[in-house]
Amino acid sequence: MAGIIPLIIISTVGMAVTENRIIETRTKNVSAQFSMLSNLFYSNSNDDIESDTYYDTLADDIAGVFLSRVQLINRDFTIISDTYQINKGKLCISAEVNQCFNGVNQAYTDKKNQCIVLTQAIKDPQSGKITHVMFATSSIADIYTAMHSIRLVLVTIIIILIVALIALGIFSAYQLGRPFRNIRETIEHIGEGGMAQDISIEGASELQTISGSFNTMLKRINQLETSRQEFVSNVSHELKTPMTSMKVLAESLVGQQGVPEELYQEFLGDIVNELDRENNIITDLLTLVKMDSTGMEMNITQVNINELIEAQLKLVRPLAKEKNIELVMESFSPVIAEVDETKFSMCISNLVVNAIKYNNVDGWVHVSLNADKTYFYVKVQDNGFGIPEEAQEHIFDRFYRVDKARDRATGGSGLGLAITKTIVMAHKGTIKVFSQVDKGTTFTMQIPLTYLDKQNA
Ligand code: ADP
Repeated sequence: MAGIIPLIIISTVGMAVTENRIIETRTKNVSAQFSMLSNLFYSNSNDDIESDTYYDTLADDIAGVFLSRVQLINRDFTIISDTYQINKGKLCISAEVNQCFNGVNQAYTDKKNQCIVLTQAIKDPQSGKITHVMFATSSIADIYTAMHSIRLVLVTIIIILIVALIALGIFSAYQLGRPFRNIRETIEHIGEGGMAQDISIEGASELQTISGSFNTMLKRINQLETSRQEFVSNVSHELKTPMTSMKVLAESLVGQQGVPEELYQEFLGDIVNELDRENNIITDLLTLVKMDSTGMEMNITQVNINELIEAQLKLVRPLAKEKNIELVMESFSPVIAEVDETKFSMCISNLVVNAIKYNNVDGWVHVSLNADKTYFYVKVQDNGFGIPEEAQEHIFDRFYRVDKARDRATGGSGLGLAITKTIVMAHKGTIKVFSQVDKGTTFTMQIPLTYLDKQNA
């Protein structure tokens, strides 16, 4: 649109300059020819110079050349010939004629009357005196008409251009605005509580990038919403199960009269177990929620990993003893690393307790520690139940259990590995599982010796 204004200015100025040039050229040409033709006055000596017919014929001839009006004026300022036959015999005492008798010829443009005004002094070749003045007006209306037509065409083109540009502008604004409207509507829809749906944008690559990022964000929102819903329903379910068992146990005691003391003992023992389980689930849940909400506050110190593992094994040894499981620690090098001691102890504990829980009586659990220049490696290996291949990718999910009934009976919350993975990732480490059903399971952790905080990561 901004290009239109210079276009209008250039064309207006250009038209005016061109018009002046054409008129100037025409004036020069007409003036030159007029001066040449005026010499005819005394050139034909055979004709009767003083006769009216001679004047009229001469004036007509000259007028015919320029499409003009020619008047011949004598020394008495009397018009002796007029090609329009209007002023013949009348007096003409104009400034131009007067000046011309004084030897000053004129040639100028009268824009108002759209003509070139010319005066030409005619000298008697013998006496050299000015005897007549030839006064002519040559029409330049044709130039004005042509310029007017050109102006009309130009204005039409400019109007068409403006209309086309406005239409194009409105269309482009609508087209450009469409993806943004799309995004806005989707955001409003989410804002009103609706589920996020993908937006599709074709065309401009910048917008496509935005829509790509936006879709990734929507996918993430959907995932979070789905996992939040799953999490809430899992939490409710997990917390309800021990409650239901406890209620059944308590009701069966309340509903009977004269219940033997042994049965009381047994049922109350079961209720205590269920309470422990409930307690474990709540503790694990609180640990996870705390990690999520605080973005995991890390209390990093230099820790002797050999000692840390030994201490954890000491704590779980009674558990291993119950199933007569051999619990061995193998250290290939002394390791000092920057870790959050409490959190990393939880990882070791979770992995070793699992290796004992999901193991057979008389089984074994081997824990090994190794390091290179950058990382240290902890391996927890058992010869227990193993994990089916299809379940291996889910075991780090919250509340996931391979065998729902059996694993719940072992007292797990289904949150241990989720907590472990979160802690390992907070240390910028990795955790992997290798397992074969009925042969055993190996978990390996790779953790940087030097803690890399978020800024350096
Ligand atoms: P849980 O509290 O149920 O033990 P975890 O998150 O620690 O929850 O483990 C998730 C599931 O992974 C367990 O229920 C179990 O089925 C499986 N699992 C974990 N460790 C082992 C292991 N060493 N051997 C076999 N199965 C295991």
